[in-house]
Amino acid sequence: MMCEACKLREAEIFQPHTGRKLCRQCFIEDIKQRVKEESEKIGLLKASKILLAVSGGKDSFVLADTLASFIDSSKLIAYNITEGIHGYNRKDQIQQLRKFLSELGIELIEDSFKQSTGYTLDEMMQSAKLKGLNVSACTFCGGFRRKLINNAGRNVNADFVATGHNLDDEVQAIIINLIRGDLIRLIRFGDKPLKLSSKFVLRVKPLRKIYEWETTMYAYYKGYTFQEVECPYITTRPTLRAKVRELLYLLEDNRPGTLLNIIEEFDRMAENVRKSYVSSTQEMKELPRCKICGEPTSYGRDICKNCELLIRSGLLHQNLPIS
Ligand code: SF4
Ligand code: ZN
Ligand code: ZN
Repeated sequence: MMCEACKLREAEIFQPHTGRKLCRQCFIEDIKQRVKEESEKIGLLKASKILLAVSGGKDSFVLADTLASFIDSSKLIAYNITEGIHGYNRKDQIQQLRKFLSELGIELIEDSFKQSTGYTLDEMMQSAKLKGLNVSACTFCGGFRRKLINNAGRNVNADFVATGHNLDDEVQAIIINLIRGDLIRLIRFGDKPLKLSSKFVLRVKPLRKIYEWETTMYAYYKGYTFQEVECPYITTRPTLRAKVRELLYLLEDNRPGTLLNIIEEFDRMAENVRKSYVSSTQEMKELPRCKICGEPTSYGRDICKNCELLIRSGLLHQNLPIS
């Protein structure tokens, strides 16, 4: 069976959402083209510096490889954080990513929780446990990671921070925020994210219209091998995200293209909701700054969640404001 795009080479892959059978080269070209279209929409093509937040997983490889095919690699700079989780060894992956990035001409900044906060994630969790704090490792991890990535973006004067979230991640997050009725978080999604603080570097997701199975195949075809080592802190509880994921896969199976339809419809809706929200509240108020670290924090807070977690774990000695 010949590839339905070039009609020259043998087809190797079936793309259910388009109904086409493609050869390896046309499949890779299709992904690059779709990432380029999304990047154009979000303004990446006009940026002078973009920080790529890379974990070493397959999506971060696909992010770097696709962007470097249409953006000068001197404008791209990658950033990786080691959380400090014993037994969760991703050194091989980082090594492999470092090699691929250098072949693409992209510089890599390597950081760690230890270096930037003084503690590894394991140390934070040990202290939190001793203090009887019932907060999951992912809450610590996600919060500090977001903060460090934003700081890194600011330090290199990046116009954007790009992450490797794919279509599956994005639609799951949209549905979860819909279920929770979290309007602010919901309208921060979409292809034109809101900037609620001058200290935030805009976060964008160039792979947000690429299915996870497509990023997996792309990485595989390009020779990027990955073994997914599971983080020991991963919860085995059936989380809302896991249930949403399962439901979305069922819908996608029944009707290929469903996830793409959801995200496209959502982007249209988000634009209108954003406009009416901004006009009804006059303007989006700048987020308050944390009294300890100076970084933006949520409306109504004096200190940010990260500093609060460190204080409650006995790792930062400040008084918490009385709430
Ligand atoms: Fe961090 Fe592990 Fe949670 Fe992922 S699963 S957010 S790496 S603690
Ligand atoms: Zn082809
Ligand atoms: Zn703070």
